[in-house]
Amino acid sequence: MSYVITPPATVSLPVVGIADRFPVHRIYCVGRNYVEHAQEMGHSGREAPFFFMKPADAVLLAERGQTVAMPYPPLTTNLHHEIELVVAIGVGGANIKAADAAKHIYGYAVGLDMTRRDLQNDMKKQGRPWCIGKGFDHSAPIGPITPAAQVPGIHTAAIQLQVNGQDRQRSSIAKLIWNVAETIEQLSSAWTLQPGDLIFTGTPEGVGAVVRGDTLVGSIDGLQGIQVRVE
Ligand code: MN
Repeated sequence: MSYVITPPATVSLPVVGIADRFPVHRIYCVGRNYVEHAQEMGHSGREAPFFFMKPADAVLLAERGQTVAMPYPPLTTNLHHEIELVVAIGVGGANIKAADAAKHIYGYAVGLDMTRRDLQNDMKKQGRPWCIGKGFDHSAPIGPITPAAQVPGIHTAAIQLQVNGQDRQRSSIAKLIWNVAETIEQLSSAWTLQPGDLIFTGTPEGVGAVVRGDTLVGSIDGLQGIQVRVE
C-alpha cells in the first residue's frame, strides 16, 4: 500500500511494567460528572451524562518522573486545569451493560482535560460546539496506563491536583455521579467503543486558571502521577 501523503503516526501511551504500548483510537470526555463541579459551573449536578471528544493527537504524554512541557495555547487568556481519571478501553463493543463494563477496560491513567474556558463559555452562550475550547493541540496530558487488575481500589481512590505546590482539586473517584461502568453503558449506547478508546471521566470541583511557568502535579492513588509545566 502506498499513500499520497505520509500517514500520521499512531498516538500511543506507555503501559506500566511492560514495554508494549497502548495505541490511542478516540478520546471521549464526560461533562459535569461530580456534583460540586457541576455546581461551580452553574448547574444542579443531576443531569444525564453528556459527552464531547478530543482528537487522539491532542495527547501530551507525561512520562513517569518527568515534567512534560505544555505550550500555552493560542486564542485564550483563561486556560483551566481539570484533573480526571482516564479509562482505557481494551475490548470494544456497543450497548455494553454496566454489569459487563469491567471486561472492556484495559486500564486506567491520570489525565488533564485542559480547557480554554473563555472560548468554551463563548461557545456555550452561542449554542455552538465546544471543540475550540476543549479539542485543541496538547489539550490532553496523560500519564502511563496501569492495567486494571493492578488497581482494584480505583473506584474509591483519592484524586488530586496541585499547582505550584498548592492544592487546587481534591476529591475521590467514589464521588463520580455516573461511575465508570455506568459511563461505559451510556457512552456505548451512542458510539461503538473500539480497543484503544480513552474516556476522560470528568473533573471534581476546584477547576481554575494556570499561566505560563505554572507546574501542575496530578495524582490518583494507585496510578502513576503526571507533572506538567505550562510554557
Ligand atoms: Mn473535563
